[in-house]
Parts: sequence; C-alpha cells; structure tokens
Amino acid sequence: MKKNTSPAAHDSPVIKFIVGEQIPVELHKVRIVQKLNLKPVNERLRAIQDAGFNSFLLSTQDVFLDMLTDSGTNAMSDQQVASMLVADDAYAGSQSFERLQKAVKEVFGKKYFLPAHQGRAAEHIIFHAFIRQGDVIPMNYHFTTTKAHIELPGGVIEEIFTSEALKIKSSHPFKGNIDIEKLKKLIKKHGVDRIPFVRMEASTNLIGGQPFSIENMRQVRKVCDQHKIMLVLDASLIGENAYFIKQREAAFKKKSIAEILRTMCDLSDLVYFSSRKVSSTRGGGICTNDVHLYDKLKDLVILFEGFLTYGGMSVREIEAMAVGLRETQDETCISQSPQFIKYLVEHLDAAGVPVVTPAGGLGCHIDAKGFLPHVPQTEYPAGALTAAFYIISGVRGMERGTISSVRDVSGKDILADMELLRLAMPRRVFTLSQVKYVADRLQWLHKNRKLIGGLQFEYEPAVLRFFTGRLTPTSDWPQKLMAKFKKDFGNSL
Ligand SMILES: *Cc1c(COP(=O)(O)O)cnc(C)c1O
Repeated sequence: MKKNTSPAAHDSPVIKFIVGEQIPVELHKVRIVQKLNLKPVNERLRAIQDAGFNSFLLSTQDVFLDMLTDSGTNAMSDQQVASMLVADDAYAGSQSFERLQKAVKEVFGKKYFLPAHQGRAAEHIIFHAFIRQGDVIPMNYHFTTTKAHIELPGGVIEEIFTSEALKIKSSHPFKGNIDIEKLKKLIKKHGVDRIPFVRMEASTNLIGGQPFSIENMRQVRKVCDQHKIMLVLDASLIGENAYFIKQREAAFKKKSIAEILRTMCDLSDLVYFSSRKVSSTRGGGICTNDVHLYDKLKDLVILFEGFLTYGGMSVREIEAMAVGLRETQDETCISQSPQFIKYLVEHLDAAGVPVVTPAGGLGCHIDAKGFLPHVPQTEYPAGALTAAFYIISGVRGMERGTISSVRDVSGKDILADMELLRLAMPRRVFTLSQVKYVADRLQWLHKNRKLIGGLQFEYEPAVLRFFTGRLTPTSDWPQKLMAKFKKDFGNSL
C-alpha cells in the first residue's frame, strides 16, 4: 500500500516556485474581515503627539497595520470560534475545563493543569510560591513581566545567554541558547539553595524571537539534575521554537511539531504559558506532572485567579484555548508567521536596513542603534524609530529598548542591551501585500533616517513605564520628517 500522502506531518508546508520569486503562501482563507484605517500623514502626526510618542497609547482608529504585539491578536480559526458556542458555563467542574485539561495533556504531556487569566498571572503564582528574598534565577533572557514578577518577592534575574545572542547580524540558528558554562559557574557562585529554578524561555521575546535547541535544553536539564534544581519552561512562544527546531536542528528534521513540543515539555518540571500568544485566545496556565508542585501552586490560583476550573478565564476562552493548543501542533498554522517574518527580514537585510538575523519568531526586529547611530541611547532610539515609522506609515510597532528597561537606584537609565523596533507578525492576520508595504516604507525611512531625532520622558510611571509613559521629541524633527514625506509622496497616503 502507498504511504499516507495527506498533508504530511513531517514535510515543510512551504510551496515551491519554479519561476520567479519564492514567496510564502497562506494555507488558510480569509472568511471574516475587518476594515482598516489609513489616515493622512498630518493626522498620524497628531495622533502620535496625543499618544505622548508612545505607540501603546494610540487608538486602533488611527492605526493601519497593528504590529504592536502578537498578544491576543493572532487570528482565531473557524474551529476555535465554533468551539465557543458549546462552552459549558459553570463555576466549578465545567466540562469546558475538562476539555482544556485533555488538550494540555495531549499537547504538553502534563497531567496537572492550573488555569490563569494570562501569562503574567502564571508568573505571579510560580514566582510567589518559589522565590525568596535574595534568590537568583538563571535564564536565557528575561521578558518584561517575568523580571517584574521575579523582583516582586525579592529575586534577581541572571541572564546567561551565549556570545551570539545579542549580535544583530548572525547566522547562528539558536541565539536563545543558555551558556552551559555560565550556568555551572552561577550555581557554584550562589549555591543551590539560592537557585529555586532555572527558566528557559522559548523563542526569547526581547532579543528577537530567537529559539533554543533541544540539544541545549538537554544540557541544561543535565546540570539541573546534577544539582536537583527545577527547570521551568516559559512556553508562551513554544510553537515557533518547535518550528525552528524542526527547520534548524538536524536530529529533529523528520519529527512532527507535536513530537518536538512534547520533547521540550518532557524536559521541563513546570511549564507555563500565555495563551494570548500560544493559542490565539486570552488566558494562560501552568502544567506539571509533579503532584507536589501542583499542590504548592493550586491554593494561589484560587487566591489570585479564581476557582481551579476557570482561573479568571471565561468558559468560551477555555474552549477556544483547547482548540488553539491543538492547532499549535499543526505546522501549517504555526509556520505562517515565521515565514512572513523571514520574507520581511530578508528583504530589509538585502536593502541595507539593519535587522536582527537570522529571522526569528514573533516579529521582525529593526536595530535602532544601527538605524539611528546619531541618536544617543539616553534619547531612546528605539522609541524614536517606532514613533517615526508610525508617522510615515500608519504601522504601529513596539519599542523594545531602553524605554522598556528601568532606572538604577541613582535614577539613571539602565541602557538596554539592544534597541529594537519590533514589528510583530500576529498569526494569519496580514497579507503579503501588507508586508510589502511595510518593507517599502521602512526603506524610505532608512533613506531619510537623518531626519529622526530623540525623545525624552514627560511622564514616567514607576513600574513597567513603557506601557503608559509619555514622551516628547527633543526637537521639531517629527514636523521635518512629515514635510519630507509630503514632498516625496504628495497627497497620497
Ligand atoms: C507575553 C509573554 C508573557 C506574559 O504573558 P501575558 O499573557 O501578556 O501576561 C510571558 N512570557 C513571554 C515569553 C511572553 O511572550
């Protein structure tokens, strides 16, 4: 009998072109659409002024392509929407929760599951339970909410990435790896008692959506086992990490995404995730096979989130999350955004626009230090580039640089390792022509980069300042940039 020739679990879902340009092709169709607004440039300038030059404070009424984040903005599948209609409303013992538990077991291989209303809530619970004043948490890289929630009970993060991790231009396939020697040294320095767990983040968000390899994870596991330290996996972007493992790690070329996901989770004692990313819904959760860990955390879920069968989520979200988790095993689903990102990154790279390479998950990351060498880091080049790009394109990106950092005790900015404009590529949301528009406008901006100046804080909140802080330009550069745009583009948008 002929082998199964259905959409192969083990083959890449990329369509080859024999004539012309290789382009990623969507393996889904669009059935519900939402109208977008592309406002004229002077209205965009006014909008960003009103938003204190902070893209978080823009209204989507004034945004053309919303590339702020992939959080809660991935497109849902028809199956997900359909599942919401059969949700079982109950405070306790909801069948919707049982279906979710089953999906978690199937996808992550973990028996015990605790729901939480989003990723940071899972972090809050885990870190509250395991971190004491003065503890040290080794990790490949931090995420903003992770750092804040580790520092809350008095913990300190220690990033032990490899020398490749922060290089803008690189061909290293796994920039998200942990440096094993640094891990060993750290354990020696602080002692096992001070290290409640090691954290690995799949597709490291803040350094460009860069994955780690299974080989690296196995080595981390080995060190953890030697010292009886727990390994915690932040699985918020696990689908993309699994996809890159399949693409880039020889031993896993022939494995299915489902098998790779399981391998990563099997190596972890505790897995937590933001469902806003991994399964295109709200919500999040924590899972484990260790009943003692489960017991240690479950009362905190009841205290902070809600009863154990909803954890702050609605039953509709719970149903959609179960379907979304299963869809993470489907390569045609999780490969779309990395393929579009690769297309954008490679086009920009070829055009001389400084971008983080190799292309990662989550989005395209523009190197603002390379783009704006004339803007000092204390004037927030990534924030300035984000605002400038919005003015000239209506595209909303996110600053991932020093504005997303914090100040030291003396009040000085702790300069971020990287100054990035992140253009997130939520799953199955944008078309290739929209991506081409982004590439075109970025190239125009790069040619006119000298016109862009810096920013300074006008209002600065004490925690997670990037969300609600307000800034002003250090000169009238936004007006000059708009004038040049009008000169080149005339009355067109
Ligand atoms: C988004 C994210 C979180 C936090 O999740 P929320 O649902 O936004 O609270 C944690 N870790 C990583 C890696 C993330 O990308």
